[in-house]
Amino acid sequence: MSSFIRLMTTPAVVIAMNNDQQLDLRRWEILSSRAPCPDTPFFYGVITTGILCRPGCPSRRPRQENVRFFDHYQDGLEAGYRPCKRCHPLDDNHPDNVLASRIAEWIAAHPEDSDLKSLAAAMNYTSAHLHKVFSKVTGLSPFKYAKVLRQQRVYASLGSSQTSTEVMEKAGYRSSSQFYDEFRQFSSLPPGSHRQAGKGEVITFAAADTSLGSLVIAASAKGLCWISLGEDVEKQVDDLQRHFANACFCPPDEGFNHWISQVAGLVEDPARSLDLPLDIRGTVFQCQVWEALRQIPVGSTLDYQQLADRIGKPGGARAVARACATNVLALAVPCHRIIRRDGSLSGYRWGVERKAALLKREKRSR
Ligand SMILES: [Zn+2]
Repeated sequence: MSSFIRLMTTPAVVIAMNNDQQLDLRRWEILSSRAPCPDTPFFYGVITTGILCRPGCPSRRPRQENVRFFDHYQDGLEAGYRPCKRCHPLDDNHPDNVLASRIAEWIAAHPEDSDLKSLAAAMNYTSAHLHKVFSKVTGLSPFKYAKVLRQQRVYASLGSSQTSTEVMEKAGYRSSSQFYDEFRQFSSLPPGSHRQAGKGEVITFAAADTSLGSLVIAASAKGLCWISLGEDVEKQVDDLQRHFANACFCPPDEGFNHWISQVAGLVEDPARSLDLPLDIRGTVFQCQVWEALRQIPVGSTLDYQQLADRIGKPGGARAVARACATNVLALAVPCHRIIRRDGSLSGYRWGVERKAALLKREKRSR
């Protein structure tokens, strides 16, 4: 480890659990004790499998960080989970619920084939009846449900090594235009776990000094989810906590110190490769932009228009600029490699001087 890194003691941030977190913790205790009938019913989704269960489900117990709780199964469906075939969360023996449960299962198994006709043919009812029953029980039309399932599948595959075409096909989109049409409607963060800004998650964070100021990094169970540079550690930690407003934060352990020294090394020499998992969260469009940024070689720069062209959105330079500005993984997603067409630097979330310094270091190391 280089000597410039001074690991800092955890800043004085005491995070009290809010009511939601306390409720989730109680629910987790019920879930993990496998008590079948809590007084206040609730449902849980498992983000790694996309399955919605009720407490007492005989399936394998999920890891705590992968569980999201819902007051109603409708909320779980709306977040893109599909009902479990073992505990049937929709099923309270009312024939409508049993039918809605079958419809949901069918849609989950046929994500690409969500028109009512195929559904009606498969179920042996009229499409009008299926639409009515499903909407009544779940609060969603079958079409809308198929849509959130497709979206959820895309989010689950982001960050994997698949191409966007593979991701689309696996998620059940019939064409790329259908995919982009459905995603254009997102202006904020995606449904499910992302929208809840770290709800139920444990995020580890740490800070260090570098030659470009203080560095704060944070990681979820999946990987690095935050890298910031700045003058003032406390402000950076404040920003981090606001960004993941519902997460629990914990200080680094021994292993995590290795992570921050790797990232700090990257500040000193941005040409190095970062051998750490990333947990990149954003809309599909943002993720596309960020992925394209990661493809820009060390020592090269592009302007917003060139980046928009690269992702096949020649008219989207402004949206691309916005996506760059919302990046929360400095260096790992190298938005500093985007400059104005005339060669001037344009803005940088962590300070234009830092951007200039990083580009200079990259030129030198090329
Ligand atoms: Zn279940």
